Amino acid sequence: MRPARALIDLQALRHNYQLAREVTGAKALAVIKADAYGHGAVRCAQALEAEADGFAVACIEEALELRAAGIRAPILLLEGFFEADELPLIVEHDFWCVVHSLWQLDAIEQARLAKPIHVWLKLDSGMHRVGLHPNDYKAAYQRLQASANVAKIVLMSHFARADELDCTRSVEQVAVFLGARADLTAEISLRNSPAVLGWPRVPSDWVRPGLMLYGSSPFDEPQATASRLQPVMTLESKVICVRELPAGEPVGYGARFITPKPMRIGVVAMGYADGYPRQAPTGTPVFVDGVRSQLLGRVSMDMLCIDLTDVPQAGLGSTVELWGKNILASEVATAADTIPYQIFCNLKRVPRLYSGN
Ligand SMILES: *Cc1c(COP(=O)(O)O)cnc(C)c1O
Repeated sequence: MRPARALIDLQALRHNYQLAREVTGAKALAVIKADAYGHGAVRCAQALEAEADGFAVACIEEALELRAAGIRAPILLLEGFFEADELPLIVEHDFWCVVHSLWQLDAIEQARLAKPIHVWLKLDSGMHRVGLHPNDYKAAYQRLQASANVAKIVLMSHFARADELDCTRSVEQVAVFLGARADLTAEISLRNSPAVLGWPRVPSDWVRPGLMLYGSSPFDEPQATASRLQPVMTLESKVICVRELPAGEPVGYGARFITPKPMRIGVVAMGYADGYPRQAPTGTPVFVDGVRSQLLGRVSMDMLCIDLTDVPQAGLGSTVELWGKNILASEVATAADTIPYQIFCNLKRVPRLYSGN
């Protein structure tokens, strides 16, 4: 059997969820969209269900998968419905629904629903992606409140730059939000992972941690609360071939690496078809037999090469961690000029093995 696999530590997932609650004192929706950022939405939801206040996903397809697996907890659709004909399913399965645009508000008012739904009314407080304009916000709230199709309403917005700890944009966004909310007394929800970890004074009855649940920091710099996160995923494989090369020999496609001296090279069963970033350059850290080493040359579809020159104890069959508790996914992301979010979401083909449940 091919040795590439992703080990998922569900105990670490629960630890990180509890950290989000502990540092905010708020209720927390565990964001498990995009198959729980590559970690497996159903298994992650099952591991968290006993303690989670609810879950959040990107669309009804993701939410239905959770209900089909027996998840009974509240599930918020972060972009609401894409077409009004999803509304009966939203009612049937008790999904909570973001309203980010006036057309969604119109559709809710015009629908004939068997039961009123739970709405999270989204404000565009400055990110300028989705959300109602501040001038329309209070009137939209009042229309929802007046509609027989609406039960509870939560007020929400989303930060564009909360991962930049010395940037004042998040403070401005909070001010816009509080201004638009004015005298409305509903619960509020503003904070994603970087705001949970790095912006302790931002008010929130509900927080919406995603990335931090998986144990990865959204910040480029070390940060005190983020240092308490536990990585959930370990992507690992094994050395399937070892070769000794003299100086001056090319390694891999395009000869992007030429041995500067005699070297010992390990070939690892892991490639970009597994989601390991092809953009990761020579020097990207890997962990082999208890030692940090480095990637050499181009990442292939199914294999990549690492440096074993200074790891004499490692050889055929040695376990290699591509990221996990020793090599942080954020380190690999930085080397590959991307973000841990994308590193996790790209995971494919490798079997996921769960522990800690
Ligand atoms: C994805 C998402 C989150 C979670 O963001 P993280 O940075 O992963 O914590 C929170 N809120 C909304 C609206 C989202 O789309």
